[in-house]
Amino acid sequence: MVHVIPNGSLPKRIAVTGGAGFVGSHLCEALLARGHEVLCIDNFSTGARNNLQSMLDQSRFEIQQHDITHPLHVDVDEIYNLACPASPVHYQLDPVQTLKTSVLGVINMLGLAKRLGAPILQASTSEVYGDPVAHPQTEDYWGNVNPIGPRSCYDEGKRCAETLFFDYRRQHNLAIKVVRIFNTYGPRMHPDDGRVVSNFIVQALRGEDITLFGDGSQTRSFCYVDDLVRGLVAMMESHGDVVGPMNLGNPVECTIRQLAELVIDLVGARSVIVERPLPQDDPKQRQPDIRLAEAQLAWVPVVSLRDGLVRTIAYFDALLSAKGADARA
Ligand code: NAD
Ligand code: UDP
Ligand code: UDP
Repeated sequence: MVHVIPNGSLPKRIAVTGGAGFVGSHLCEALLARGHEVLCIDNFSTGARNNLQSMLDQSRFEIQQHDITHPLHVDVDEIYNLACPASPVHYQLDPVQTLKTSVLGVINMLGLAKRLGAPILQASTSEVYGDPVAHPQTEDYWGNVNPIGPRSCYDEGKRCAETLFFDYRRQHNLAIKVVRIFNTYGPRMHPDDGRVVSNFIVQALRGEDITLFGDGSQTRSFCYVDDLVRGLVAMMESHGDVVGPMNLGNPVECTIRQLAELVIDLVGARSVIVERPLPQDDPKQRQPDIRLAEAQLAWVPVVSLRDGLVRTIAYFDALLSAKGADARA
């Protein structure tokens, strides 16, 4: 049977690096649902086979365990490059490997795309803006990044990756797409990766203290994963002239204290908020300006923070209950 995907074109064979991670696993599912074949490339450093459960029995889904810092020889029509640890706790565990992933790994994926003549999309980040002075952040803002701090392996790695993408385009005429993803949350976030949404939800479900770093006045703008994945696919399917960098995120900004209070309220928890030291170089404010994505992709997020948190809480509730049952067995 010949599958025809929703925009009328034929199915493709698509590589998703970092496909076993939080965002990557949702992207693999969305691409399979559109009729494509998906090759998930992952070294399983922060990703997990469990995230791929729903896809394992699909013949159009394949997994290759591989570290992208080493050359990769596969045959695909498109590449989404998501491989890279994303939470500050994880990316600071082995900062040199984090940098290698965003520099050597990206060179390898660009070399692969060049050999195949395949379009390649880079999952960049709002962290390229660092601790931004401009607010909200538009794509033409160059950022305020510490080159030698604990977050630099991630921020500077992602900035170098963007440079490599644009140099491969200028030098080799590669078909590139670069998106700058803002804080994204949802089911399959790693419960121990230290990110704020998973930390607060897990703490609230366990009735533990909610660890607010600093006074909680710093802001973030949280995007539900389904909205983000729709944006990633829209970007890859957009006209070849649309290359980015393009912000993808939910522009509704909230303080971290407001997030803590909302999570406690939605969980119905008895947890109390306790203040802990603010990590070094923690950005004070972050909010995407998404007018470019609206204009070029007709993309806007539609899931409210409250609805997205309810779905995410349900996921962690089931996960913790299953873990509790395993421990009792
Ligand atoms: P994640 O840690 O859940 O997923 C990253 C995946 O990449 C994991 O499966 C990991 O095993 C894999 N990986 C890491 N290094 C690799 C390597 N060298 N070779 C092969 N696989 C490797 O993180 P996520 O939240 O799903 O993030 C996915 C991408 O989106 C990352 O590139 C991240 O920088 C970007 N991003 C995410 C967010 C967010 O809020 N989630 C925000 C901005 C950017
Ligand atoms: N590469 C890869 N898979 C391929 C083609 C290239 O992993 O199918 C790697 C290759 O190992 C090289 C990198 O991509 O180190 C960059 O390739 P490019 O052709 O741009 O540069 P060169 O090989 O000339 O250094
Ligand atoms: N944060 C917090 N408590 C936690 C984890 C994080 O107050 O248990 C804060 C953190 O200091 C930052 C914000 O929440 O200001 C978002 O942190 P996260 O690590 O999720 O993402 P990033 O800093 O990369 O945006």
